[in-house]
Amino acid sequence: MSRSCIFCRIARKELPTELMHEDDQCIAFRDVNPQAPVHWLIVPKRHVERLHDLTEADRALLGHLALTARAMAERAGVAESGYRLVVNNGDDGGQTVPHLHLHLLGGRAMRWPPG
Ligand code: AMP
Repeated sequence: MSRSCIFCRIARKELPTELMHEDDQCIAFRDVNPQAPVHWLIVPKRHVERLHDLTEADRALLGHLALTARAMAERAGVAESGYRLVVNNGDDGGQTVPHLHLHLLGGRAMRWPPG
């Protein structure tokens, strides 16, 4: 864990958030600046900066994050209507918080391609 990282601080409960899920590997909480009626973040507890920093050893973690996102979609009531999972990676990917996270977006029709 990183001392100053905002998502590490949320995982340590040092910052308030609307926590929707917690297990031994990850947490899920509502995005503070939602881009859709459902906008939750799925975040590993371990401090990993970017998707691109994952290695072969992280296969199970990545699977766990994806299946947690699936469970959160069920819980948010968007499993049938559809949803989008997004991982922004690095500057050109639009990543602003340097701690790996999956965006779960739903509750409205998504446009493609993104801007
Ligand atoms: P990204 O641009 O992919 O790095 O996404 C970072 C996301 O984190 C943005 O959608 C922010 O609105 C969200 N965010 C930043 N700080 C917080 C916070 N304290 N609680 C919840 N969401 C946050």
